[in-house]
Amino acid sequence: MFRAAGNLSKSMMRTQRRFLNLQEFQSKEILEKHGCSVQKFVVASNRKEAEEKWMSFGDHEYVVKAQILAGGRGKGKFINGTKGIGGVYITKEKNAALEAIDEMIGKRLVTKQTTEEGVRVDKVMIAEGVDIKRETYLAVLMDRESNGPVVVASPDGGMDIEAVAEKTPDRIFKTPIDIQMGMTDGQALKIAKDLQFEGNLLGAAATEIKRLYDLFIAVDATQVEINPLVETADGRVFCVDAKMNFDDSASYRQKEIFAYETFEEHDPREVDAHQFNLNYIGMDGNIACLVNGAGLAMATMDLIKLHGEDAVFNAVRIITSDPRVKCVLINIFGGIVNCATIANGVVNAVNKIGLKVPMVVRLEGTNVDAANIY
Ligand code: ADP
Ligand code: MG
Repeated sequence: MFRAAGNLSKSMMRTQRRFLNLQEFQSKEILEKHGCSVQKFVVASNRKEAEEKWMSFGDHEYVVKAQILAGGRGKGKFINGTKGIGGVYITKEKNAALEAIDEMIGKRLVTKQTTEEGVRVDKVMIAEGVDIKRETYLAVLMDRESNGPVVVASPDGGMDIEAVAEKTPDRIFKTPIDIQMGMTDGQALKIAKDLQFEGNLLGAAATEIKRLYDLFIAVDATQVEINPLVETADGRVFCVDAKMNFDDSASYRQKEIFAYETFEEHDPREVDAHQFNLNYIGMDGNIACLVNGAGLAMATMDLIKLHGEDAVFNAVRIITSDPRVKCVLINIFGGIVNCATIANGVVNAVNKIGLKVPMVVRLEGTNVDAANIY
């Protein structure tokens, strides 16, 4: 009874689902492909590249935006920043925009969504400024409560959306969508009204909302968040910021999107584990656990049959490479895979690695007595 290798190991060391998380510029490339409205932009890793790719936005302002996976950039601060600018800088002057690039690249940006150490900025987006009249919030999410997609909308979008959720939750509207039927025109219109679009703009906003929903389904997203979705002074609707997450289980059919994955901002131990199809979650504390989760026996069987002892070896190697780990606890229930096979795998791994910390192994289930000889 075998399932595909990718799936199996997911039930193995997984305590949490992993979702691919993209940079804003990547999300906007996808939005553009699906017909959503985004401003013109270029992406650069340094000032020279920005100058080469430079786009004149005519009378519009330039918006320089640090590309990191965390949100809250507008109100963020650079460690050792000299100009007091944050992760979103708006200017009419080309030179000031170029200076902002120099200021951002290579520095660490701290926002309320990062740790105190912040995240190093390696790329910036230079986008066309839009004349914003109103900022709204729109997100499409996979929602446990409604067992399917839900659209979360608020007319009070922008950088203080967390405060809106906390202080005026009645200003946040949720519309569950039937995943089989898709979003109806009536629902799209209702959401546009929730966002307080009016007159001519109501239709344009409804169209944009429907496109965003259709995109969410087409790309196997778990989240498409547009904050802000804006109304401009000249009566247009734009996705000014975008954050998208994707279901890792869909990576086999979303190859183009998963090709964006860079691992740059990931925990290096998780990256290492990923190469061996292991799901490793680095956490604080000093007891390391190698466990198999819900589909216990099957997952273990799959792991050992398909990945052989290499998987056990790599799992033990990765968790013991963390200097904070003072002890390893292995807790496995041997069902279809018998305990003797697992014990053999663990003993071989330990012999190869030369363990420097104590390891406690608990095996229970089929062939547990035979496992004692190892
Ligand atoms: P973050 O959510 O990480 O703070 P945003 O992209 O949402 O970053 O930018 C923060 C704020 O900056 C927006 O709410 C908006 O007011 C302003 N802003 C961002 N991009 C533009 C743009 N292209 N034109 C005009 N204003 C912008
Ligand atoms: Mg935003």
